[in-house]
Amino acid sequence: MSDALLSYAEAAAFVAKRAAQLARSKPATERVKLPAAAGRVLAETLRADTDQPPFPRSTRDGYACRAAEISTHSPLAVVGTTRAGDPPSGPLPRGAVWEIMTGAPIPRGADAVVMLEHVESANLNIPSSTQHRTPGAPHLDSEMWESAHIKSAGSPTIRLLPPRTIKKGENIVARGAQARKGDALLPAGTLCSAAQIALAASCGATNLNVYARPRVAILSTGDELVPIAAKPRPGQIRNSSSAMLAAMVTAAGGAPWIMPIARDTARSLNAALARAAAADLLLITGGVSAGKFDLVEPALARLGARFHFTGIRIQPGKPLVFAELRRTGTGPHQNRSRTQRCYVYGLPGNPVSSAVTFQLFAAPILAALAGRNAHGPRFALARLAADVKTKPGLTRFLPAACTFLKSAPEVALVHWQGSGDLAAMARANCYLVVPDNCDHLKAGATVTILLA
Ligand code: AMP
Ligand code: MG
Repeated sequence: MSDALLSYAEAAAFVAKRAAQLARSKPATERVKLPAAAGRVLAETLRADTDQPPFPRSTRDGYACRAAEISTHSPLAVVGTTRAGDPPSGPLPRGAVWEIMTGAPIPRGADAVVMLEHVESANLNIPSSTQHRTPGAPHLDSEMWESAHIKSAGSPTIRLLPPRTIKKGENIVARGAQARKGDALLPAGTLCSAAQIALAASCGATNLNVYARPRVAILSTGDELVPIAAKPRPGQIRNSSSAMLAAMVTAAGGAPWIMPIARDTARSLNAALARAAAADLLLITGGVSAGKFDLVEPALARLGARFHFTGIRIQPGKPLVFAELRRTGTGPHQNRSRTQRCYVYGLPGNPVSSAVTFQLFAAPILAALAGRNAHGPRFALARLAADVKTKPGLTRFLPAACTFLKSAPEVALVHWQGSGDLAAMARANCYLVVPDNCDHLKAGATVTILLA
């Protein structure tokens, strides 16, 4: 067991390396119906089953046209209509336009679509060469008018509103512009959410091969904790962290297994840990500080845990424990995982500390166990709204709110009462990262934020 506190960078590098090792072997796969694939990790490459779009399609309601013709601002006859769902139509005669709806195939011969809002209706009189035209615009040649004229007897005419002109290709997505048949659209290891599911649906995937989700046991410890449905008596609090971590685990591609609260006794912890070791990953909250009833570390040691680290110079979250146990093969949550290990995090009990340490150090291991391609926490740069003063020595991750309304994201600390302040955490959307050698971040400085 190592008693030395690691720096943030050392611990992060250790976890990243371990995650990369774990990612080399892939989890078992299973097939799920497409709507059930949200939060699941693709175990196959998703490929385009056809060109996307499969035909040149209009992105607007308007008129399919030839850009050079319509840009003369002369009246053009409307010689047909294509609605979304209609087969490709045409050909478009010269000197004419074709009414078209969003999503409909472009008639052969047209090379642009002009938006409905950008034309006015013009009289049916097919113009002679003396017809009004925008100075400098080319004349439509007589053959062109004749061709439209024949097609358009009795049909309305429209004219592009000057001074607008239309470029070739405007408001058309060419066939195959998004993807070519057979193109790899999503690699295996992609976490599926709404966009990925829509894409799979567009390729006709009614089912997807996904990786089996790692089982993540969540064990909150503490004599003061009561289940969330209970009314806490004086001195008690509700177990908020188990529900929070379950949400974080689900979002990261794991299957949460919330265990009953363990008491601050060796006996209760022994029994709970022995059961929980059937999981791929075990998240314990509380009981890892230096207090008299912080019994998690010794209980893990009794079970033969191998400790990777037992503390990091960060705030919040200093007493973080990372260890591994031999996975037990019993219990309803035994799974098909490829590792015989149960990775264990002893997260500090305060919910903000649990959340930050999960995100920084446990989520990368969970992502690797889930077969995801991306493992690390996400950081971004933002402009600091007001001075922040701290003591150097610890890397800090302070709950903050970032606004993305301005040209540069701007971040400010949320007012908080320490790591137990759930209301503050719920007002935050990121954490301000304060480097360990820093005692003062000045307003206006570019700072790093950890995205929540
Ligand atoms: P500990 O790390 O066990 O000393 O806990 C630190 C603080 O976090 C204490 O104030 C606990 O009451 C609180 N705490 C521990 N576990 C939870 C939990 N599951 N939900 C909410 N608060 C907790
Ligand atoms: Mg405790």
